[in-house]
Amino acid sequence: MIEVKELQKSFGKLEVLKKVTFTVDPGETVAVIGPSGSGKSTMLRSLVHLEEVNGGSIIIQGQALVDNGSYAGHAQIKGITSKMGMVFQHFNLFPHLTVRGNLELAPRTLKRESSSEITARSKDLLSKVGLADKADVYPSMLSGGQKQRVAIARALMLSPDILLFDEPTSALDPELTGEVLRVIRQLAEEKMTMIIVTHEMNFARDVADRIIFMDKGEIAESGTPEQIFGSPRLARTRSFLKL
Ligand code: ADP
Ligand code: MG
Repeated sequence: MIEVKELQKSFGKLEVLKKVTFTVDPGETVAVIGPSGSGKSTMLRSLVHLEEVNGGSIIIQGQALVDNGSYAGHAQIKGITSKMGMVFQHFNLFPHLTVRGNLELAPRTLKRESSSEITARSKDLLSKVGLADKADVYPSMLSGGQKQRVAIARALMLSPDILLFDEPTSALDPELTGEVLRVIRQLAEEKMTMIIVTHEMNFARDVADRIIFMDKGEIAESGTPEQIFGSPRLARTRSFLKL
C-alpha cells in the first residue's frame, strides 16, 4: 500500500530524514513513536506532499509520488494524494463553517457525486463518530475531543484508502483522548490502512500491528508491539520507553 525507500529531507543544513525506509501493507495499522524533533511529522507530511523530499521514493498503491528524488507530474500527484486523508494535532477545522459544512466542503468542491449523496455520507460519518446531533453547530461550540472526531469524519468523507494521523490526541485534555482513540481503534478493526504518530504508548501497543521507533531522522527500530515494548533491541528504544 505504501512503500517508502531511502527518504531524505533537509531543512537547510539540518538533515531531518536520513534514508527512511519502510512499507505498510493494506489494512495495517502502523504506530510511529519517537522523541520530539525526530522527523515523525516531516515523514508523514511528505507522504501527502505537504513537504517535498530531497531524495528517495514514495510509492503509494504502486504509483510513484516521488521516484528516486524526482516528483511525478501535478495531475498524478493529485491523483495519488487524493486517496489519502490526514488528521492533524490541532484539528484544522474551518471556523466559519458548521460541522456539516466542514465535512461537505471538499466533496462539494470536487463535484464527483450528487448533493444528496454527499449529505447522506456526512450524516452517516457523523453518526459513526458519535456526533449526529452536532451537524449544525460551529466548531467553536465543540470540545477538543469532539473537534477531533469531526476532523476524522471529514477526512473520511473522500473515502480515503489510507489515513494518516499526526498526534491526534496531543492537544486534548486527558479525559478527552479516549473518545478519539475509540474512533481510531474502530477504524483499525475495520482494516483501514493507517499510520498514526502518537505519544499514547498504551494505545500504540494495543491497536497497532507494527511499531516504528524514529530517532534523529532515522527508523532506529521497528517490530511488533510485543517486540518493541517487550524486548527492544536498542538501548535508545528502551530509554525512550523508560523500560
Ligand atoms: P517530530 O514530528 O518528530 O517532532 P518534525 O518532523 O516536526 O519532528 O521535525 C524534525 C526536525 O525538523 C526538527 O528539528 C524541526 O525543528 C525541523 N523542522 C521541521 N519543520 C521545519 C521547517 N519547516 N523548517 C525548518 N526546520 C523544520
Ligand atoms: Mg511532530
